[in-house]
Amino acid sequence: MNLVSRKPNRILNMMSHSPLLDGLNPAQMAAVQHIGGPLLVVAGAGSGKTRVLTRRIAYLMAERGVAPYQILAITFTNKAAGEMKERVAELVGPIARSMWVSTFHSACVRLLRQEASRLGYGNSFSIYDQADSLKLISLVAKDLNLDVKRYPARQFQSMISSAKNELLGPHDYAAKAQNQFEQVVAEVYAVYQRRLQSANAMDFDDLILKSVEVLQSFPEAKARFRSRFRHVLVDEYQDTNHAQYILVRELVGSDNEGIAPAELCVVGDADQSIYGFRGATIRNILQFEMDYPNATTILLEQNYRSTQNILDAANAVITKNESRKEKNLWTEAGSGAQLVGYVAENEHDEAEFVKDEIRSLQRAGTSEPGDSAIFYRTNAQSRVFEEIFMRAALPYKVVGGLRFYERKEVKDLLAYLRVLANPNDEVSLRRIINVPKRGIGDRALDHVDAYAVRNNLTFWSGLHRSNEIPEMPARAAGAVNLFLSMLSALHVLVEAKIRPSVIIEAVLEQSGLMSELSSSSDPQDEVRLENLQELVAVSMEYESRPIESLGEDEEISLAGFLEQVSLVADADEIPEGEDHGGVVTLMTLHTAKGLEFPTVFLTGLEDGVFPHSRTLGEKSEIEEERRLAYVGLTRAQARLYVTRAEYRSSWGSPTYNPASRFLDEIPETVIDWRNKGTASSTFTKVRNFSAPPARPTGKKSTAIELTVGERVSHDTFGLGTVISLAGEGDRAEATINFGPYGEKRLLLRYAPVEKL
Ligand code: ATP
Ligand code: MG
Repeated sequence: MNLVSRKPNRILNMMSHSPLLDGLNPAQMAAVQHIGGPLLVVAGAGSGKTRVLTRRIAYLMAERGVAPYQILAITFTNKAAGEMKERVAELVGPIARSMWVSTFHSACVRLLRQEASRLGYGNSFSIYDQADSLKLISLVAKDLNLDVKRYPARQFQSMISSAKNELLGPHDYAAKAQNQFEQVVAEVYAVYQRRLQSANAMDFDDLILKSVEVLQSFPEAKARFRSRFRHVLVDEYQDTNHAQYILVRELVGSDNEGIAPAELCVVGDADQSIYGFRGATIRNILQFEMDYPNATTILLEQNYRSTQNILDAANAVITKNESRKEKNLWTEAGSGAQLVGYVAENEHDEAEFVKDEIRSLQRAGTSEPGDSAIFYRTNAQSRVFEEIFMRAALPYKVVGGLRFYERKEVKDLLAYLRVLANPNDEVSLRRIINVPKRGIGDRALDHVDAYAVRNNLTFWSGLHRSNEIPEMPARAAGAVNLFLSMLSALHVLVEAKIRPSVIIEAVLEQSGLMSELSSSSDPQDEVRLENLQELVAVSMEYESRPIESLGEDEEISLAGFLEQVSLVADADEIPEGEDHGGVVTLMTLHTAKGLEFPTVFLTGLEDGVFPHSRTLGEKSEIEEERRLAYVGLTRAQARLYVTRAEYRSSWGSPTYNPASRFLDEIPETVIDWRNKGTASSTFTKVRNFSAPPARPTGKKSTAIELTVGERVSHDTFGLGTVISLAGEGDRAEATINFGPYGEKRLLLRYAPVEKL
């Protein structure tokens, strides 16, 4: 291993005058100029890893004569990819089109569009999202007569997904099954995979798995990509899972394969690995040097993003993780403002505080709303912020959550388009066959299903033989035929390569989706109609894409449009531009990775919320949560707020949560507390009160003694204040105000209340 950053003289000698090296420090320059064996750039947040990657790509072309088509760059979001491409296009012109810059998933789709036929797929295969895949798994479980209570489809889904991330096919999985449950999973997995293949569909994990399969099973295909991609670059390398790791390894190749290995450059930060639950393994980054013995490692230590106080807070938190390499991140930015801490009474007060603060920063001319981002652990936490911002007319944008493409009506319309592109797509076909209602019920479909299975046909072919199915009522068969002839009329448009937006409009009219919604008096349907029109607008935008933004083998087509929509990620929704469109951006901590904002509010810092309650028992999971905290804290450039609520309603009952351990880990010296709360963090030993109320049993023989004005906590209602008392002994009662739950009259002998 070479630690280039420890050898400044060598770096100085290597320096040339390329303008592409301007604004880089010596270690960054070394990374941009590095030639030859694998290069790993490991560094803390905000140290310019992504900048190195972008510059390196430009440098390869401008100074080393590398052609754009020889470059494969993997970024975390499609948007980052788009930006990178634009920048390169400015440099080398439209030829930038032939460069592959994309997410892992998009790159794999491109590879598979060319190669999937080797694996028995058509090149217009559908891409199933989580919901589609869950639907198909449920169908499989139903066909296998599995008890859905005992075997929830979601559990199958997550186990199959883990298997795929480990590159285990159904056979491998079956061979490794340890118990009866895993044997059942193996069976479901095998059938699921067959059904996917006959539907000419791949789920998200398949995109990676099947790409690896192509490269490993077909030497000619591998040789083609190997000789093409001379440079492979990966950002956020810490979040690659095993399958992605192997994909990269296959594409790069090794010394003894006839073709020289590609130059590999990966950048990442083990402290920001936050997708362990999805199979990402830090091992990939920690052991890079072992896997690539001739690798060069460059460390970057200067942070250009944040002030020292922000870094001190982030460093203090991440240091508490045990299995990590110590890093020394510093900045020239000066200590800057202290962090602001705020303990709110409940989640509404927390959101009020954030809103007031954004407004007063704006009034003071310190920070515009577009400079601010609000982070939280789970999507559900956005709701309160939305309510309060809406009331205050503070413009905002929630990134992620129930996404546009997950709305029912949008999925319906997309399902029509998917069937037009790929009629074997069973999940989509079933979704639309009776939407809007056209008299084709579940029973009729069961008949088709049974007939198709008996005759070894696909569901689609089975539908075409509806007339021949003896059990099928004539009315239903007639309805099926009408449906099929409508589809075939629409299909003519696809064959004629009509623009996607025109096809969409035709689908809206012909299918009856439009007239159903426009004749409805339900105001919700109006919103639905607007969403469908929005999809038309999205397709028009797609059609007007500048030619440079298309890959060299891409063309404007229905399939291309579907592919783009299938692959949108949460982070792609982040408002563009320096000022983020002037709106406050709200998102989960996971989505925030790689981004930066002048002002950051890290909210919900409570044990049980963040770290998430699910992770509290497991050390490795807490460590992953801590890395997530590190990601959140290091997004801030100038101002960082850390807030928590003393209680918040979760699942309908107020829950008291102690301060997040991450909050306690931040040194007091860097925080300016605006409000420390009433119960404050001395209350941290109290358990989480979200448990169901204790049953009135005989155990509690005497009633608790209370006085008016005293603060208590109740298992279900959370914190309260005693308003009045009545009765004595076993009959003692108290009226207690529980904030959002209002006043309750409790018989104290049975009430699960404790004094604070
Ligand atoms: P993360 O770990 O969060 O992904 P990163 O290491 O990728 O961060 P970048 O996003 O590349 O860091 O850089 C952080 C900020 O610092 C950006 O605004 C970038 O433009 C700026 N920056 C990077 N290197 C330099 C430099 N040498 N001089 C000035 N600014 C720099
Ligand atoms: Mg980055």
